[in-house]
Amino acid sequence: MTVYFIDGQFTERDGLAISIDDRGYYFGDGVYEVIKVYGGELYTAEEHIDRLFQSATKIKMTIPYAEVQLMEIARELVAKNNILVGHVYIQVTRGSAPRMHQFPDPTVPPVVTGYAINNPRPMMGIENGVGVKSVADVRWLRCDIKSLNLLGNVLAKQEAHEAGCIEALLHRDGVVTEGSASNMFGVKGGTVYTHPVTNLILNGITRQVVLGLCEEQGIPVVEKSFTIDEAFEMDEFFLTSTTSEVTPVISIDGRPVSSGILGPLTMKLQKAFSSQIPSFIADE
Ligand SMILES: *Cc1c(COP(=O)(O)O)cnc(C)c1O
Repeated sequence: MTVYFIDGQFTERDGLAISIDDRGYYFGDGVYEVIKVYGGELYTAEEHIDRLFQSATKIKMTIPYAEVQLMEIARELVAKNNILVGHVYIQVTRGSAPRMHQFPDPTVPPVVTGYAINNPRPMMGIENGVGVKSVADVRWLRCDIKSLNLLGNVLAKQEAHEAGCIEALLHRDGVVTEGSASNMFGVKGGTVYTHPVTNLILNGITRQVVLGLCEEQGIPVVEKSFTIDEAFEMDEFFLTSTTSEVTPVISIDGRPVSSGILGPLTMKLQKAFSSQIPSFIADE
């Protein structure tokens, strides 16, 4: 049975403590993080928890815990659920109050919930590559916030899914932004291209790790947006996220990227990524 963290307590009850008046439920008024666990250890947890606080600040919400306390809650969720390889999910909503759009006044306590589940690394996609579908990015203009308000992302992902693709390649007027839950990268002439950190993308922790690995490996990076048309012309293409790590993209809209085989630079980055995750062998 899964052990959850709900409103200050660890419990095996699923959802029972959440109110219909929770603003996460009404408005998606909250923020969240997904933290990967490898070999029973949290991976880049500080970065994720830090970003959770940044997201909360951006929506003018105060998390009722210190960063170290949330870290401890995440660790306990991993331990109580015996997670070897999987992830911790944490979300914070603006709390529970009768439905009205403006913030509750006086303020109500934010609702912090979390759980941890075992979830194997998606080796199929990582080893064989995946297809993506281009989808218009119709989300709001604060994509830098990891907000619970994910309808734009959900609809894009569903459109990709219905086309037999693993992820949506989002674009605004033809300019690639990111995926529905991942960051997108193209490789051309040995240089890695990805959208710069603006309000139009979520600056993924995995994105930051991979850009660091590029630097270590002497791979040039240009944080500059490119178009869908340019994406088709890339030598290699890949996406990153906490759960998909570095996943090669071998087709866009059914058209093979380059020759549709795994690119050498992507494979080099995958190798570098794998060798810096804790207890890498735990999953094999
Ligand atoms: C979470 C997320 C990502 C990936 O971020 P990671 O920290 O690498 O998991 C990218 N785009 C969106 C829209 C996301 O929600």
